[in-house]
Amino acid sequence: MFNDFSKLGALMNTSHLFSEHPQLDGQNLRQAGPIQYLIHWFYGVFEPPILRAVDILLTRKWIKDTAFGRFLLKQIARLSWYFPHGLIVTTEAAGRMVDFVINTEGPKGARIAVGPCVCQRAIGTWQEPCKKDMVVLYGADIYTHLNLGYELIDGDQAKALLKQYAAAGLVHSIDFCMQSGKWTFVICSCDTEICVPARIYLLTGRFFTLDRKRLYRIKKNVSAPGPAAGVSHAVSSEPTRKIRTARSHGIATNAWDAVFV
Ligand code: SF4
Repeated sequence: MFNDFSKLGALMNTSHLFSEHPQLDGQNLRQAGPIQYLIHWFYGVFEPPILRAVDILLTRKWIKDTAFGRFLLKQIARLSWYFPHGLIVTTEAAGRMVDFVINTEGPKGARIAVGPCVCQRAIGTWQEPCKKDMVVLYGADIYTHLNLGYELIDGDQAKALLKQYAAAGLVHSIDFCMQSGKWTFVICSCDTEICVPARIYLLTGRFFTLDRKRLYRIKKNVSAPGPAAGVSHAVSSEPTRKIRTARSHGIATNAWDAVFV
């Protein structure tokens, strides 16, 4: 739980709260407001215990191996709409996201940082590559501010890392909270053994796409052989839910268009 008062002290330095933090919004990058920043900052602090709690659920036989358990999990997932959900993308698409984040003019805050995978950190199970939580825009500000071992990187470094992750068989997912592109904060690269959202996805079909009514199909397909092929297959085998992007609720931005050309 929240027991690091140095973090709280750092947050109380309101200059950071009110300084420039870019977010996706409409046609441009705009400044994330202090309330959004604050909410997401707290999410960053409490993310590991949340993931740990879900991991405990996922390892219970009566949850994953019974119809009632899976039903229960589905209801919990449904109620968790405000937590990060992701769009599975190819390495090329993730690279285009990086280009958009780096090249688009907007507020001066951090753009990209990479740090230890939060799922691995939360569960205490490490597997290379461990440093693969690629936070973007105001997410890069928050996670470097939380002093969790993140380092700022440039676009070329980010794209080189994405290729390494893909070569390791990981699947990229561009994640956002609140079902809104304005809350886009990370490009994750996930497996199916440790990654908590991927494991929930495989049991419930949730967390890796949005409400189907809000989605548009895109042309790109997932192609990532290796340990995470289960995710790829699960996504790509759904004929009407291949890979899509949300064009409503703020996700219909030029950024997403740039990603999914
Ligand atoms: S979602 Fe994937 S990359 Fe992100 S923290 Fe979890 S396993 Fe790591």
